[in-house]
Amino acid sequence: MLFIDNEWVDAESGKTFETVSPIDGKADVEKAVAAARRAFHRKSEWRQLTASARGRLLHRFADLIERDGEYLSTLETTDNGMLYAMCRHMIHGAVSTVRYAAGLADKVHGDTIPSDFEGFTYTLRQPVGVCGLILPWNGPIGLFVNKVATALAAGCTMVVKPAEQTPLTALALAALLAEAGVPRGVVNVVNGYGPTAGAALTHHPHVAKVSFTGSLEVGKIIQQAAGASNLKRVTLELGGKSPLVICDDADLNVAVPYAAEGVFTLQGQVCVAASRLFVQSKIYDEFVKRAVEYAKKRKVGNPFTEGNQNGPQVDEEMMNKVLGYIEKGKAEGAKLLTGGQRIGTTGYYLEPTVFADVTDDMTIAKEEIFGPVQSILKFETLDEVIDRANDTNYGLAAGIFTNNVQTALQFSNLVEAGTVWVNNYFTFEPRIPFGGFKDSGIGREKELSVKGYQRHTSTHVGKMSCLNSPT
Ligand code: NAD
Repeated sequence: MLFIDNEWVDAESGKTFETVSPIDGKADVEKAVAAARRAFHRKSEWRQLTASARGRLLHRFADLIERDGEYLSTLETTDNGMLYAMCRHMIHGAVSTVRYAAGLADKVHGDTIPSDFEGFTYTLRQPVGVCGLILPWNGPIGLFVNKVATALAAGCTMVVKPAEQTPLTALALAALLAEAGVPRGVVNVVNGYGPTAGAALTHHPHVAKVSFTGSLEVGKIIQQAAGASNLKRVTLELGGKSPLVICDDADLNVAVPYAAEGVFTLQGQVCVAASRLFVQSKIYDEFVKRAVEYAKKRKVGNPFTEGNQNGPQVDEEMMNKVLGYIEKGKAEGAKLLTGGQRIGTTGYYLEPTVFADVTDDMTIAKEEIFGPVQSILKFETLDEVIDRANDTNYGLAAGIFTNNVQTALQFSNLVEAGTVWVNNYFTFEPRIPFGGFKDSGIGREKELSVKGYQRHTSTHVGKMSCLNSPT
């Protein structure tokens, strides 16, 4: 089922799928882009709306997400395996993001500039046009909202392509947008595979911008498609191998749980997962001991059951990929201290896994694992750890636990990462731009599609004394 021009329609090919999609989405993308293009015409109902009316529509959308929070969370848990409790938390985040975007809609200001000729000159910030928004499977509701809400605030129209593994919540959210009063054709959802539906979107001459979240490998293909077609603007939110640094003055009662949540939350299927954990030598042995105790206590099981802390990996392929990395870790000499196995034979559950004595050259310290695998590395000095933290092609996120403000600021300024957490990890603010350095991407999420590219770091400074559970 697709959602085009505010109506439920079947795929042109007539094919359907059980949440994995074998359709050739090309014909559907044509239809959806045509609908989005009509909706972007200067005389369309959408283009006639004032900026503040767009803001009001977004507030209505936020109200409807709140109303249907339980339903949306149930869909997400069923489709993705995310803990139900975490989905409820995500719904709060989604509502905040939509309300923030609603407030941005009427604040797209230009400049007036003195002219050497009679009169004056000014800049007018324009919506870019039809956007192609391509989503991964690991955070469907949050990522849909991040991309769609800001594009709507800017006045764009769009075609969304969810990941083939998790198509359900995007359809439900599109229906809520129609209920909120968003005119026909403004938000369309086309389900399909990447190389067919996704590629049709990225090559389409009438798509002005692509915002993509997913793997580095596909991000590169998308940038090539954008260049080969009509020089689309491209925002890329890609993978990471994020370093989290624990200094020897850190409070271990706080740092140990944060470090664990930083890599085990959502079974490690998180782009900002703290997958390289650097611990200073003086506290290394004690930290490792406590990290293992923490991981052993973690409850893994049905994501709908209250009290469970980890659910299943998204599918068998991803589970086997993670198990493959665990084997590599062992073969290359990392010390497996707990976990490393599949749990049971139904569902794709993995034990929370801790490796110590990991070195920078090991595969598990270099590649994105996307699973519940904590890799602990030892370091001596701040100077050394900054170089080692930056010794990766990625640059999405980083974190540090220390009681020394100098150390925190120095690390935050020098680490090559789009987001830095100080004395916390994995907290998200709807008002903070999000994106990466280096191979982690181009551009920043939650900035309006009318803005240019930026490369900056957002630093979140937390309180050492309280643990804000990320779930
Ligand atoms: P993926 O790259 O395999 O797929 C992402 C999306 O791209 C899917 O919708 C897929 O159908 C589509 N796609 C695949 N091939 C395509 C092509 N040739 N043309 C156009 N579209 C195509 O990624 P995934 O496995 O779904 O997600 C996991 C990855 O996403 C990880 O690397 C993770 O780090 C990253 N991620 C990044 C962020 C971030 O904000 N930086 C957030 C979440 C996930």
